[in-house]
Amino acid sequence: GSKPAPDSRVTPMMAQYVEIKAANPDSLLFYRMGDFYELFFEDAEIASQALGIVLTKRGKHQGQDIPMCGVPVERADDYLQRLIGLGHRVAVCEQTEDPAEAKKRGAKSVVRRDVVRLVTPGTITEERLLEPGRANYLLAIARRRASETQWCYGLAAVDISTGHFVLSETDGAGLPAEIARFEPREILVPDVIHDDPELRGFWQETRASITPLSRDGLDPASAERRLKGYFGVATLDAFGAFSPAEITAAGSALFYIEKTQIDSRPALNPPSRDTAGAALAIDAATRANLELTRTLAGERAGSLLATIDCTVTPGGARLLAERLAGPLTHPGMIRDRQDAVTALVENGDLRDRLRRILKRSPDLARALSRLSLGRGGPRDLACVRDGLFAARELGLELAIAPNLPKELFEAAQLLQGLRTDVADRLSAALSDELPLMKRDGGFIRAGFDGGLDELRELQQDSRRFIAALQARYATETGCRTLRVKHNHMIGYFVEVPQNVGEDLLKEPWKDTFVHRQTMAGAMRFSTMELGELESKIASAADRALKIELALFDEMVEALLGLAGDVAAAAEAIAVIDVTAALADLAMRLDWTRPLVDTSLAFAIRGGRHPVVEAALKREGAAFIANDSDLSGKDSGHILLITGPNMGGKSTYLRQNALIVVLAQMGSYVPAKEAHIGIVDRLFSRVGAADDLARGRSTFMVEMVETAAILNQATSRSLVILDEIGRGTATFDGLSIAWAAIEHLHEANRCRALFATHFHELTALSDRMTRISNATLKVTEWHGEVVFLHEVVPGAADRSYGLQVARLAGLPAAVVERAKTILSELERSDREAPKRALVDDLPLFAVSARSEPAPAAPKPDGLREALDALDPDAMTPREALDALYRLKAQR
Ligand code: ADP
Repeated sequence: GSKPAPDSRVTPMMAQYVEIKAANPDSLLFYRMGDFYELFFEDAEIASQALGIVLTKRGKHQGQDIPMCGVPVERADDYLQRLIGLGHRVAVCEQTEDPAEAKKRGAKSVVRRDVVRLVTPGTITEERLLEPGRANYLLAIARRRASETQWCYGLAAVDISTGHFVLSETDGAGLPAEIARFEPREILVPDVIHDDPELRGFWQETRASITPLSRDGLDPASAERRLKGYFGVATLDAFGAFSPAEITAAGSALFYIEKTQIDSRPALNPPSRDTAGAALAIDAATRANLELTRTLAGERAGSLLATIDCTVTPGGARLLAERLAGPLTHPGMIRDRQDAVTALVENGDLRDRLRRILKRSPDLARALSRLSLGRGGPRDLACVRDGLFAARELGLELAIAPNLPKELFEAAQLLQGLRTDVADRLSAALSDELPLMKRDGGFIRAGFDGGLDELRELQQDSRRFIAALQARYATETGCRTLRVKHNHMIGYFVEVPQNVGEDLLKEPWKDTFVHRQTMAGAMRFSTMELGELESKIASAADRALKIELALFDEMVEALLGLAGDVAAAAEAIAVIDVTAALADLAMRLDWTRPLVDTSLAFAIRGGRHPVVEAALKREGAAFIANDSDLSGKDSGHILLITGPNMGGKSTYLRQNALIVVLAQMGSYVPAKEAHIGIVDRLFSRVGAADDLARGRSTFMVEMVETAAILNQATSRSLVILDEIGRGTATFDGLSIAWAAIEHLHEANRCRALFATHFHELTALSDRMTRISNATLKVTEWHGEVVFLHEVVPGAADRSYGLQVARLAGLPAAVVERAKTILSELERSDREAPKRALVDDLPLFAVSARSEPAPAAPKPDGLREALDALDPDAMTPREALDALYRLKAQR
C-alpha cells in the first residue's frame, strides 16, 4: 500500500491530513470534508475493499496519485458498523470551525480539524452499531503478585453504552472463566499479561478484539487518582472495598475511555464490585458446550438464552443475559431473586399489568449514555421521556401491590422516589414527529417557546409573501406559467419559458429581473424582492435552529443533572422486566421453583431440557422427563450412563447442567421438583467425536480440557463428561476414561455425570460406592429400534448398533449378514470363559482370537461388513460411528 510521508511541497490540506494520520497510526482516519468523510492512501485502499465502495484519486502527493474513497456523513454509521465488525478501529476527524472562519484567516487557510473520537468495538454507543439485548463490554485487565507463585487478576468491565461499570478479581486459573462471563467486545490487556506464556493462545480464542496496552498509567496510585477524579470523590470507600488489582484495571479502563472519547465523558455508574466467588465459575468451553448464549455454530437462536428470553425491554434482555452468564453461589441472594419471581408467578394480574407498561418502555440507559456523550438526538430525548413515564407508571403499579418481596420492593422504592418533572417538560417541548439529528431542527413543539414561534411565523409569512409575489409577477408579465422556485445554488428565483425569458431580458423588465441561468426551454431570474425575502427566511431559520439547539442543550443538561437517578431507574426497570419475564416463562412452561441450599444435594424429579423440549414442541412431539439423583453427604455421586447413539444421553447430561445454571441465576427450572446444593464450578466436556468441527488436534484439546477439570473440580463442583476418550484408540481411550472416573471419585469427590460408549466402565460401580449406572431405555418393535428416551438404572444390555445402522441406511444385505454374525458372536461369548477386563475389549479381542472358537463365525463375515463401507464417502463422524457398529457385531 501507499503511505503518506511528510513533504514540504504538499498542499496545506494534505499536510494537515498527514499530521493527523501520523498521530493515529492504528486507526482508519475518517477525514471530514463537507458532507463526506474521506479516506486517503492505504486507509482508502482498505476501506474501499472492506466496504465495496469506489476507490478514486484526488490530486498528487510526491508525484503519485493519492488513492481516496469517501462515505456520506449521514450514512457513516452503517459503514462504521461494518468496519468495526471486521475488527478495524476508526478515528473520526471533524471540522472544528466554520469554513467561513478559515477563509477569514486567508484564502489558502485550511479549516481546522481534530480527531473527536476513536471508534473501537468496546466503546461504541450508536444504536445501529449495538445489539439491543446485549451488553457491549470493554474489559480491562491488570494483575498483581498475590504470592511468590501466584498472580491475582483485576478485571474492570465497562459498558459505556449503558454506564455499567463492574470490577472483579480472580486468580490465574479463574481468569478465562471470568473473561468468558463478560463476553467482552474488546479487551485491554497490558503487554506483559498478553505475552505471558501461561496464557499463550488464549487471547485468540476469545471472540473479543484485543487491544494491547503499554505500561503507562498502570500503577495502582495513579489509577486511584484517575478513578477519584472521574467520579469527583475524595475517597473510593463509598463505592465499596476494591483491591489494588481491581483499581488498576478500573484506572486503565478509564484511561482508555478518555483516550477514545477525547472531550466527551460518558456518564458511567460508579464501579460496583462483584463479590468474590459470588458467581458460578463456568469456563469458556463449558459455556460453548452448553450453548448458553450461542449455539456451537455461533448462532443466538437455539441457545438457552434465546429460548428463555421473554423480556420485553432491551435493558431487561441485557440483565437476563448477564444473570445467565454469571449465576450466583450465595443461597440467600438466589432466594431473593426466586422470591421476586414467585410473587409475580402468584400474582398474574400484577405481572400482566407490569408487562404491558414495560412493553412501552424504551432503551433508557443507552439513550442517556448517548446524550451524556453529546451524541444524542431528539429521539433520544423522547426515549428518556417515555422511559421516565414508564418508570412512574411501574412505581404506581407496585405501590398498590401488597407484600412485595425484597427485590421488587427495592425497585419500587427507587421508581417511586424518581423525579419525573423533567419528563413532563420534555413532553411539552418535543414535537410528535422527531428528526434523527438535532441539526435538522423542527423538534420543538409549536407553542413551547414564544421566540421560536415568532421566527417560524416569519418564515411562514415569507413563504406566503413569495406566493403573492409569484402571482404578482405572473400578472405583470402576463405569463401564467411563471413560477418562483428554490435551489441551493441560486436560492429563490423566477422561472419562465424560454420565449418569455427573452422578453424579460429587455425593457421594461430588465431592471427588475436579473438573468441567472438558461435551461433547456426555460430561463431563471432573480429579483431584489426575492433576494430580500431569501435572507429574511434564511436568518429566521438560522435563529430558529439556534433557539432549538439551545433548548436541546438545556434539556440535556437538566437530564444529566439526574443522570444517576435515571440510570438507577433504568436498572430497576430491567430488574422488574427480568422478574416478570421469568415468572411468565415459569407459568407458561410449567417450571418449578428449585430448593437451593448449601448441601451437596442434586435431586431432580421430572427434569427436562428446555431447548430440546421447545424444538420438539414445534414438531408436535413430546419431551420425556427424567429424574436425576447425584446427592451425597460430603462427596457427590457419579452417574455413569451407557446406551445407544440417539438414545438421549447428551440431552440428559446437558439438561442437568442447564437446570443448575437456571436455578443459581434465580430462575424456576424445567422440572417437577428440584433440590440443588450450590455448585461452585460447572464443567462440561464433549469427547472428540462430537468436536471434529473445530478442526484441531481434537484429542489434545480433549485431554487439555479433561486435565483442567481433574485439576480444578472441588467437591462442590458439577462435572459433565460426554464420551471422553473417544478421540484415540480404544485401549487408550478406555484407560483414560477409567482413570478419570477413578480420580473424580477419589480425589475431586464431585457430583458428576459421565456418558460413555465403553460398556466396560459399568463394572466400576461394583468397586466404587458412589458410582451407579444408568441407561436409556430402548425397545424393539417389529425389529425396529424405538428410543424411549427414558433414563433407567442399570447398564445398557446391548447397543442396538445394528438397528441404528439400519436407520442410518446401511445396505439391508449388510445388516442381515451382520445380524447372523452377531448372534454367532454372542453365543460364543456366552460359552467363552470370563476374560480379564483388558482381554475383553472388543475389536482387539476379535483379532486377538487367533484360534477361532469352535462355533465362531468365519472371520470373513466381519470382513464383508467392512467391505460394505466406503471410507472415502464417509465423514469422520460417520466413520467413527461405523467403527462402533462393527465393534458391536463381535
Ligand atoms: P445421544 O447423546 O444418546 O446420541 P442425544 O441426546 O443427542 O442422544 O439425543 C438424540 C435425539 O433424541 C435428540 O435430538 C432429541 O430429538 C431426542 N431426545 C433426546 N432426549 C429426549 C427426551 N428426553 N425426550 C424426547 N426426545 C429426546
